[in-house]
Amino acid sequence: MRIETTAVHAGDRRKPSAAIPVTTPIVPAASYIYEDIETVDKVFGDEMEGFAYARYDSPTNHALEELVTALEGGAGSLATASGMVAVQFAIQAALTDRRKSIVAATAMYGATVKMLMNVFEPMGVEVTWVDIFDLAAVEAAIADARPGCVIAETVSNPTLRVADVEALARLCRSAGAVFIVDNTFATPLLVRPLETGADFSVHSLTKFLSGHGDVMGGIITTTADHLPTLRALSRTCGPTLGAFECYLSMRGIKTFPLRMERQCANAVRVAAWLVQQPGIAKVNFPGLPGHPDAVLVARLFPAGLFGAMVSFELRGAGREQVFAFMNRLRLVVKATSLGDVHSMVLYPAMASHRDLSPKQRQRLGIGDNLVRLSVGIEAVEDVIADLEQALAG
Ligand SMILES: *Cc1c(COP(=O)(O)O)cnc(C)c1O
Repeated sequence: MRIETTAVHAGDRRKPSAAIPVTTPIVPAASYIYEDIETVDKVFGDEMEGFAYARYDSPTNHALEELVTALEGGAGSLATASGMVAVQFAIQAALTDRRKSIVAATAMYGATVKMLMNVFEPMGVEVTWVDIFDLAAVEAAIADARPGCVIAETVSNPTLRVADVEALARLCRSAGAVFIVDNTFATPLLVRPLETGADFSVHSLTKFLSGHGDVMGGIITTTADHLPTLRALSRTCGPTLGAFECYLSMRGIKTFPLRMERQCANAVRVAAWLVQQPGIAKVNFPGLPGHPDAVLVARLFPAGLFGAMVSFELRGAGREQVFAFMNRLRLVVKATSLGDVHSMVLYPAMASHRDLSPKQRQRLGIGDNLVRLSVGIEAVEDVIADLEQALAG
């Protein structure tokens, strides 16, 4: 063989040995080789199980999907290139054979609001916005709009209200609407939406599940009813996550319950400390006794776990004072994400809800003095000390 041929073929295409690697191998192959073309034909035509083409399925994606399916308690999952693509494909799968009408929570991640307004509405999908914490209003909106699907977040961004996913699932079921839950903030440690009757549970893998700020990805977990539609859509459109990101996500998820437990415990301590500070006007945290959804939280979340997100208002502060406070932080990082091992702050008026008018933000409870904190796994004393010195100015 000449060198040009050797460069292309040598070293590759070994059958796996008898030994099983302790972690899932990263398989970047775009396609697969079978002994004979008849088998390729069967696999390609879905008459036989096997991998044919990376847009359809591949071993590393399959392993991550199996893992998250087990965590979320569904029939199957689809790993996608971002959390936003996961939201998009859950909606598209839900609406494939249903009325092109969506009832959506007003309190949602900024890009999700934007996707509904700038992508789905221009395509002729009707969107009805509703206060998802007012069940009577949701029931009326569903009766009125007869939506193909309803979409909400378990824990809302950034005011950290909690949606009654059980009651919402019942309302959806009786109206024949598909229920999509963005479970990114709650994570499967706190809530498994499919077990409460939802049809799709969506995550930004980028956040708590991967947890190290080194993966951009999303994942959709669904029931046996919706899985074939979702996988067929994916097979055609290819929103799939790359093999390397699937591997990193799996590696992150191995420590997810440990990290999340620590982050939740730290958040309880941070929220309790913030409440005591004269410079803090208000603290939003599902674990505080005065939280508007405290009764629901006690029913829905396991004891002592309230998530790792805390948001708070600096007393009498405007944008300038909030920026000065954030700039004084030395340990807590100012970064445009959440859920990582390190504590991080963000200014929602500047980031996730930037495109809304001040009036729209006010209506959602997002004042110019609101700071969002994602609590990390550090020693909580160090996080509190950093907040303390930054508050003292
Ligand atoms: C980050 C986030 C998304 C979008 O995920 P990406 O991975 O950034 O695309 C969707 N929903 C929520 C609640 C998020 O926090």
